[in-house]
Amino acid sequence: MQKAFKVTLIPNHNQEVLINKTIGCARYVYNRFLAYKIELYASVGKTLNYNACSQQLTILKKEIEWLKEVDKFALQNSLKNLETAYKNFFTDLKKIKGKKGVGFPKFKKKHGCKQSYKTNLTNGNIQVIQNRLKLPKCGWVKFHKSQEITGKLVNVTITRTSAGKYIASILCETEIEKYPQTTQNIGLDLGLKSYLTTSNGETVDNPKHYKTQQGKLRKAYKELSRSVKGSNNRVKAKNKLGRAYKRITNLRDDFLHKLSTRLIKENSIICIEDLRVANMVKNHKLALSISDASWTKFITMLEYKALWHDRLVQKVGTFYPSSQTCNHCDFINHAVKDLKLREWSCPQCNSYNLRDKNAALNILSEGLRLIAAVGAPDAKNACGELVRPGAIQAQIVEAGIA
Ligand SMILES: [Zn+2]
Repeated sequence: MQKAFKVTLIPNHNQEVLINKTIGCARYVYNRFLAYKIELYASVGKTLNYNACSQQLTILKKEIEWLKEVDKFALQNSLKNLETAYKNFFTDLKKIKGKKGVGFPKFKKKHGCKQSYKTNLTNGNIQVIQNRLKLPKCGWVKFHKSQEITGKLVNVTITRTSAGKYIASILCETEIEKYPQTTQNIGLDLGLKSYLTTSNGETVDNPKHYKTQQGKLRKAYKELSRSVKGSNNRVKAKNKLGRAYKRITNLRDDFLHKLSTRLIKENSIICIEDLRVANMVKNHKLALSISDASWTKFITMLEYKALWHDRLVQKVGTFYPSSQTCNHCDFINHAVKDLKLREWSCPQCNSYNLRDKNAALNILSEGLRLIAAVGAPDAKNACGELVRPGAIQAQIVEAGIA
């Protein structure tokens, strides 16, 4: 399993200059080859693949001296990213004709978009010893050590955040100690009022980090708008705003990690609704609270942690009427369409249903039914152990799991 450890770097002045130079060169190479590809396609209707670009890069480096000053892997990875962006664009076009997809690769800007470069391991050019990370050209860079970095190094991505910090994401091949087997299964009903309700009737409150931090954000924006362009105060205000956003992300990730880890630890099969979150965000005035709830991220966490610990996440179709169906007798009560109706008595079997718990119970039974009917995206091996499919490939994931 691959696992990424994120650490904050403490580069000295020279290293900081070199990191920025590398980010700049990686961006330059990306943009230059994107322009070249567009031009070539327009003039002779041809495109260049990665290998051809790579050969061109070697020639370019003879012309442009400063490209030789930085890590060569950063530039090669830039070309690989460009190749991927092209491929995604074309496969996406085939998949959904006429609909808006990932879009044509864009030129990278100096400001605003993600500023980063990636380097690969070859012959010990990257190493970690205690709180120091060895990077090509940069040498040993100190970092804040918050966790043990274990496993075999694969690659490192260096990112400069909007707050002006340098983050290294160190990807390692690592063994994961699995949680003990359990026979518990659970259904989850995701909501807005509470973050989720389980089929056991447990309710997890929605922490609404965006709302609680809104005051700080507003203040940071105000300071930014009052500062003079190009001034030192403006830089400070920008950093402050970056930190305020980062804090929201950290709080949210921490909440999502703890919750998903606990659910994976306690349960063997976890059934959830297959949410079309993207569409909901587009259409609804609840957009802010929905994206704040960041369900997509939560479900991704559940899925990769399920792979780590031999659990199964079963999705249930969006159009399955989980709220309206009585879990005891399958009677469909259309009156429950009304979102305000939090609890109801079944007209057919008289059982008393709590809206969210009933929905979670239905999601669980529907999930289990699907597994039994379709044989699951999952199978048992000769020893009767659950075998995970290759549904999610080697996961590249954030560390910091509780
Ligand atoms: Zn009933």
